[in-house]
Amino acid sequence: MFLKKPKAIKSKSKDIGRAIYLIFRKNRNNFTTRPGRVKNFPIPPFQLPNRLCYDACFDDNPNISLMKHAIEKNSEYHQIMTAWRHDIHAHPETAFEEFATAEKITSILRALPNLDVHTGIAGTGVVAVLTGKHGDNGKMIGLRADIDALDITEENALDYCSSIAGKMHACGHDGHTTMLLGAAKYLSENPDFSGRVAFIFQPAEENRGGGEVMVKEGLFERFPCDSVYGMHNWPGLPAGEFAVHEREVMASTDSFDIAIQGKGAHAAMPNLGIDPIVIAAQITNALQTIVSRNVAPTDTAVVSLTKMNAGSAYNIIPDTAHLAGTVRTFAEPVRQLLHQRIRENVNAICAAHDASARVDFHDAYPATINYPEQARYCAKVLAELVGDDKLHLNEAPSMGAEDFSYMLMEKPGAYIWLGNGEDSYSLHHPKYNFNDDILAVGASYWVALTYRCLAP
Ligand SMILES: [Zn+2]
Ligand SMILES: [Zn+2]
Repeated sequence: MFLKKPKAIKSKSKDIGRAIYLIFRKNRNNFTTRPGRVKNFPIPPFQLPNRLCYDACFDDNPNISLMKHAIEKNSEYHQIMTAWRHDIHAHPETAFEEFATAEKITSILRALPNLDVHTGIAGTGVVAVLTGKHGDNGKMIGLRADIDALDITEENALDYCSSIAGKMHACGHDGHTTMLLGAAKYLSENPDFSGRVAFIFQPAEENRGGGEVMVKEGLFERFPCDSVYGMHNWPGLPAGEFAVHEREVMASTDSFDIAIQGKGAHAAMPNLGIDPIVIAAQITNALQTIVSRNVAPTDTAVVSLTKMNAGSAYNIIPDTAHLAGTVRTFAEPVRQLLHQRIRENVNAICAAHDASARVDFHDAYPATINYPEQARYCAKVLAELVGDDKLHLNEAPSMGAEDFSYMLMEKPGAYIWLGNGEDSYSLHHPKYNFNDDILAVGASYWVALTYRCLAP
């Protein structure tokens, strides 16, 4: 699902940012990278410098402790987390079959003080609830990590490589699980907050929508969170730096199949048949006009055809042809428009050739859209935690998808990115590996967010 992100201009002051932007506009054709700290991170055209207005979220409060890293790099906490991560990495399990992973999570949580652990939510999901030492004031936040792996054969040479053939933690969910476990350990031992925090360990993020299943099984009725937060590691972003989006983070993703019914014939007598290959070619071209001619230039959308199958011999015009692909966007009206125009193009082209077609859409995840208020809050917490210079605001969103969207459709919240390093392999690559160095700062973010949101 990963697309390497262009780097937005970020500046300490809007004026400086504006000046850089004007220089960039003037030299757009040859200005592909900005000088300085982040190399090879192209500036997207036309994107204005942007800062979230997060300063007004809350006042600096000297009474709230541990706004700096609760868990220091290379500390004992970090070492424990690294061992957990390697163990989870070595034993990857995919959608709704994360039995050993859930067992591992449960046994770690049950060994911690004062955690109320619930299992079997969406099958292999686990939720643990912790009440702060200042008592339950009715407030509750949810912190979510995904726990599943992918059907990929690992190509790393690590001493904790996947021990399960064809399966691998290639999206870093081993790291996400570990960071949330680390936060649960730290907060259960240092519960300096009011209200309750729910640690949500979600199965089946990849392709199977475990987030939706948890919501449908009553996640937020059983654990009535006021807001919910997610985090994903991000290759290409410097290790330990964060990116926060005020609104769109990840796209919606739907796939589709087009089955074209023509009429087979001898290749030497095409007039006796209806050639589905010619029709498929015309459809392929026509669908590429939807984004360029139907979608407003100010909206974002992708239509990609990714499969094309027809025929079996040099001298036979086949009966049928099959196309398939994916559509991605951020806004529901655009999503509906893409569906509608694909159907209209296919039907019109088939009608022109006296052929017929069946178009099937397979709706997948809706777009992941942050709530501005919660996003600003997270940004402010991160500014305190790692400093302004390690905080990237309103980067271009990703056209990848994420089922945390289902939780954000129920509750306000924000989903942020944590840099996995500029030299990291991309997500879902057989040589990808979660960066152990960022475990401490990721867990510290969960701790800091909890202390801020649930300040006594
Ligand atoms: Zn993934
Ligand atoms: Zn992922």
